[in-house]
Amino acid sequence: MSDVLAITDHRRGELRDVSYEIITAGRELADETGGDLHLAVISGTVDDFAEKLDREGVDAIHTVSDGEEFNHGVYTQATTQLYDELAPQYVLIPNSVNGLDYAPAVANGLDLPIVTDVVGVETDGETLTATREMYGGKVETTNDLEGPAVVTIRSAEWPQAEGTGDASIESFDADIDEDDLGSTVNGFEEVAGGDVDISEADVLVSVGRGIEEEDNIPIIEELADALDATVSSSRPIVDNGWLPKNRQVGQSGKVVTPDVYIAIGISGAVQHVAGMKGSDTIVAINTDPNAPIMDIADYAIHDDLFDVVPALTEEFQ
Ligand SMILES: Cc1cc2nc3c(=O)[nH]c(=O)nc-3n(C[C@H](O)[C@H](O)[C@H](O)COP(=O)(O)OP(=O)(O)OC[C@H]3O[C@@H](n4cnc5c(N)ncnc54)[C@H](O)[C@@H]3O)c2cc1C
Repeated sequence: MSDVLAITDHRRGELRDVSYEIITAGRELADETGGDLHLAVISGTVDDFAEKLDREGVDAIHTVSDGEEFNHGVYTQATTQLYDELAPQYVLIPNSVNGLDYAPAVANGLDLPIVTDVVGVETDGETLTATREMYGGKVETTNDLEGPAVVTIRSAEWPQAEGTGDASIESFDADIDEDDLGSTVNGFEEVAGGDVDISEADVLVSVGRGIEEEDNIPIIEELADALDATVSSSRPIVDNGWLPKNRQVGQSGKVVTPDVYIAIGISGAVQHVAGMKGSDTIVAINTDPNAPIMDIADYAIHDDLFDVVPALTEEFQ
């Protein structure tokens, strides 16, 4: 019987979706090992977060009240001390910007193996088989690890845990060595255009190279306005400087899971699909019926975007 410890993620006072997904992944693992699922909430409004995270499948929630925003040193020290206290078999950490910042330090400090960006987990006795994707999702690899390990899980691969739980919520008194923190968080400054987080949007209107030139982008923005949606894009649009980097969906952009994803003039390259395949409903508008995006679309409009998009805007207005 071995326990699982999963660390949650938050930013600017909001829990990230991956915090609810890591519960599902953690429960899955704990069911296999026959142990308990322990969740940790580090920094921020921990009591409020713990209440929200008390969902079905969680056995215990440990809160570490230290600072507001993510700090590498605090997360590394608190996670390491929780590991020493709880002795779990596996430590799950989100494969997020924050998670990737401290997970290797935790693994290194505890002398544990680490496997990152994992999309599936299975155990057989002491062996953990972690699945990862390579070459933009074209191939999957399986990695066998013996004994305790640190695993970072990709967001939007597991469904979010639901229901109400009855986990014990306890404050964990981590002994944070201030001299060993290395950095201090003084504030939070968004980069230009950073007001929008496409990974949190319910409806995304996404534009690709089919738009031809920057001057045509407003027709996409008008459709987004009519739908009360957010504009995102494929990589060439960002590479051309037509939209800021924080709008890019895909392997080297953001992973998104909206209710509706409208792909306009986007071919559906594997690197793009890696970032949006978790969308509930996919609508594709493309002149090429054989474009790969058409294969994964729930609704495919095989037509010229310059005709379809203004017509849709008018209809929704
Ligand atoms: C390491 C690496 C990482 C990458 N990361 C990303 C990433 O994060 N995100 C990403 O998006 N890409 C990424 N790419 C690039 C990716 O391989 C593709 O080149 C890119 O996704 C293509 O963008 P697109 O679909 O907009 O353009 P294209 O592939 O050029 O597709 C344009 C589409 O528009 C259609 N079209 C043209 N005119 C019209 C019209 N008038 N009406 C309707 N449809 C029309 C065409 O039929 C075509 O299907 C990455 C590549 C590499 C090598």
